Amino acid sequence: MRWNPYIDLRVEISNAVRAKCKACDVEIQKGTYRAEAIPIIGKRALFHVDCGIKRAPDHAARRLVDSKLPDKPVDWPEEGLAVAERYVPEGTPPAPRSYLRTPITGISYPQTDPRTQDCVFCGLVTPGEPGPGTGHAIKAFSLDGERRFHPQCIVRLAPGLCARVVQENSDRWPAEVKAFFRAVLPDTIEPTPRSPWADTGGVPKLEMAPSGRAACRYCDVKIKKGELRLAREKMYGMRRSPAYFHVGCYCKSDDYHPKMLEVVVLKADPEIPRHLIEAWGEVLPPDPPEDDDVPPLLERLLALFDSVPREEAEQEDPTSNLTENVVEFPRGFFSSE
Ligand SMILES: [Zn+2]
Ligand SMILES: [Zn+2]
Ligand SMILES: [Zn+2]
Repeated sequence: MRWNPYIDLRVEISNAVRAKCKACDVEIQKGTYRAEAIPIIGKRALFHVDCGIKRAPDHAARRLVDSKLPDKPVDWPEEGLAVAERYVPEGTPPAPRSYLRTPITGISYPQTDPRTQDCVFCGLVTPGEPGPGTGHAIKAFSLDGERRFHPQCIVRLAPGLCARVVQENSDRWPAEVKAFFRAVLPDTIEPTPRSPWADTGGVPKLEMAPSGRAACRYCDVKIKKGELRLAREKMYGMRRSPAYFHVGCYCKSDDYHPKMLEVVVLKADPEIPRHLIEAWGEVLPPDPPEDDDVPPLLERLLALFDSVPREEAEQEDPTSNLTENVVEFPRGFFSSE
């Protein structure tokens, strides 16, 4: 089994003059199609289309499968699909469709960036016509990057985050935008809490809690001795001790992406017994309906767990056995503001 750290592979025309392919180190010519691979952690990478498809064939296989179905939208150009036909090995399992759907994890008001961009929601330029609903650009962050929205569009997509802007009432947001959010948000919308996960960085570690002393940063409840927890380096503060999370709490958070669980399972401590992963059936979110043609997440995670030789895992980094890709350590990747 071959694994890659990418949550998506996009194919688009290169507008960069001196971009090099990360696989073969040869320049990608401006004006030609290129592939952009977006990892769950770390920086995105540019490839020639065929080089990118070799790195993440599952995402190419997903486009090939869906291009043959009548009702599934495919976001690759014909040229990309033609290359995929040639380079995706037969029998490659397609990536789950839900991997392309990453939630908005934070919003901010761009203070110094005067660029106009198209709003991802309505397609019109932002900031648009002057006025509280359209005359401002809102920056939104997700695992796969940054986007721009009108206030009236972001309030529909991420009402809880907009309610948090109202609640926190920070000077970094213009009074006009805060007043607009306050006016249009129904009272029933709860502000989304700030995620403690966003203040951590690096590859999270799956481990059995050696004691029952540490509390989960999401729910403040102590993590029981022997229970599986996620440990992740804090990015701020003086002490370099990790922060700890219940796996179930991470799964309920806005930062959740199944690919992150793949990473931690691949790098799991060798002493972790399989039955503790099997027990995740109770904490994993239900499989999204669009993933109707892939095995359930728990099954996929157990297959990854089984693919790592447990005894050898101690000497060698298990992820490097499985893939030529490197899981890159992020610095600031998850910090949204
Ligand atoms: Zn290349
Ligand atoms: Zn819009
Ligand atoms: Zn918790």
